[in-house]
Amino acid sequence: MQKRIDFIREIINKDMEEGRYAKVHTRFPPEPNGYLHIGHAKAICLNFEIAKEYQGKCNLRFDDTNPTKEEEEYVLAIKKDIGWLGYDWEDREYYASNYFEKLYEMAIELINKGKAYVCELTADQIREYRGTLTEPGNESPYRDRSVDENLTLFKKMRDGEYPDGTMVLRAKIDMASPNLNMRDPVIYRILHTSHHRTGDKWCIYPTYDWAHGQSDSIEGITHSICTLEFQDHRPLYNWFIEELGIHHSRQIEFARLNLTYTVMSKRMLLTLVENNYVDGWDDPRMPTLSGMRKRGYPSAAIRKFCVNIGVAKTESIVDIEFLEHFVREELNRTAERRMAVLNPLKVVIINYPEGQEEELEAINNPEDASAGTRKIPFSNVIYIEKDDFMENPIPKFYRLSLNREVRLRYAYFIKCVDIIKDENGEITELRCIYDPATKGGDAPDGRKVKATLHWVSEKHSITGEIRLYDRLFIKENPLAVPEGGDFTMNLNTDSLKTIKNCRIEPSLANPKPGIVFQFERLGYFCVAFDTKNNHPVFIRTATLKDEWERIQKRKK
Ligand code: ATP
Ligand code: MG
Repeated sequence: MQKRIDFIREIINKDMEEGRYAKVHTRFPPEPNGYLHIGHAKAICLNFEIAKEYQGKCNLRFDDTNPTKEEEEYVLAIKKDIGWLGYDWEDREYYASNYFEKLYEMAIELINKGKAYVCELTADQIREYRGTLTEPGNESPYRDRSVDENLTLFKKMRDGEYPDGTMVLRAKIDMASPNLNMRDPVIYRILHTSHHRTGDKWCIYPTYDWAHGQSDSIEGITHSICTLEFQDHRPLYNWFIEELGIHHSRQIEFARLNLTYTVMSKRMLLTLVENNYVDGWDDPRMPTLSGMRKRGYPSAAIRKFCVNIGVAKTESIVDIEFLEHFVREELNRTAERRMAVLNPLKVVIINYPEGQEEELEAINNPEDASAGTRKIPFSNVIYIEKDDFMENPIPKFYRLSLNREVRLRYAYFIKCVDIIKDENGEITELRCIYDPATKGGDAPDGRKVKATLHWVSEKHSITGEIRLYDRLFIKENPLAVPEGGDFTMNLNTDSLKTIKNCRIEPSLANPKPGIVFQFERLGYFCVAFDTKNNHPVFIRTATLKDEWERIQKRKK
């Protein structure tokens, strides 16, 4: 695939031409405080693909500096998701917490240089002293402590002599800097909390700002690619690196991925999980990678999407239909076709001998000859979709109605000759006749029908449960809410429909979870196992209709 050169690759090319670095080395640095979402996929693809293109390496580094929100569960889920996306960090699985000792020593170095001090202002006071965008901040009364005093206090902080929140270590930079990040930022805080990896070894923890750049440096990262909100932190990271005289990574910022009809922040996704708006992080409606996997999205489609959206310096919102377009494109090539009837209507073929059966040949995937064919059983009682029949057909309804002929896919032409109703007037059954000469789907006399229906044989089919998932939010931008409201107001209260008595062709009697099929005329469906009820279910991955082009036209 021809790749267009984006601004990130331009910067890297220049660095390499000028000999700034010998080899390209990137990293993906998740914080293990939630599951990965499609936005992370963009960052993962970017970092791993760049490493591949430049014959370099990409590390996986967990930025685990906040013990109160991080958990081992998230570490495992993140590794699984990156592997599923198709990327390999080999033996380079790192943790910022591995560097706690080194980061501590670096802090000591900064104190020794007179560039850091222990401050006893409260969090609120620190905020007040910081000033605003238009006004300079005020210097902390603790700013001019001696190096020795700072060393002693910082050591005591580490030794656990002070309770949470009583003091912090701050870098001594410039309280009048126009960049608020440079106004003596906090680099260590006291937290008597166990860490998922270091246990109770530490009661002081580095801030993200103190840990991130130096972790990159320690790992020899050449290009530290991150999202735009870190642009204003770059001068700070550079200041740390220069004061410490350590390897200088180049930070490059790009715009986050935003998608319509979804939220992407882990904090909001956690809200959905904790309040049971969804059935866990891997609910098929979630924009998480585990949710998309469960929904049946192929990882190849997600990768293609990430490459195609490209990278930019300005924020924008990508239409979710664009992602769905890649999902359909991939599944159209790879998913085998099957027949299933969601809302079954019984059809008795009165001229087909009762007790007779035959097997008809069906193509597994018209897009892939190597997928071969399968046999599907036919008999005198079949099911078709309820809405493929209309007693009083409206204009342009070309499917089955009384005295009209249609084709049954891979089988015969049938013609409806009678309608059976129950005492409430509901249609319970159709009587049809079939034409034996049309076996396989064409009439030797050349007569045409206007519709082809999917169907299953009653006695051979299995009963199954199908789940139709819809968008999780009703608004393109779920964050658009009236004052005082929050994004949960825009949740789609009807985003899951369960259909219990679907009829499915017998080849799917023991389906393997994770495989996606196209149910003819209905959409793509992924096999899942319902552990609560101990039976397989089919989750709708996508409908057949690609909305992408329509959306493009509307926008023009
Ligand atoms: P969130 O706001 O969802 O919690 P985060 O940025 O705090 O996301 P991290 O675990 O810190 O999540 O992110 C790991 C990497 O993924 C970072 O380099 C971050 O910039 C990148 N990333 C996160 N969200 C997106 C997004 N929507 N688009 C592109 N990259 C993203
Ligand atoms: Mg973060």
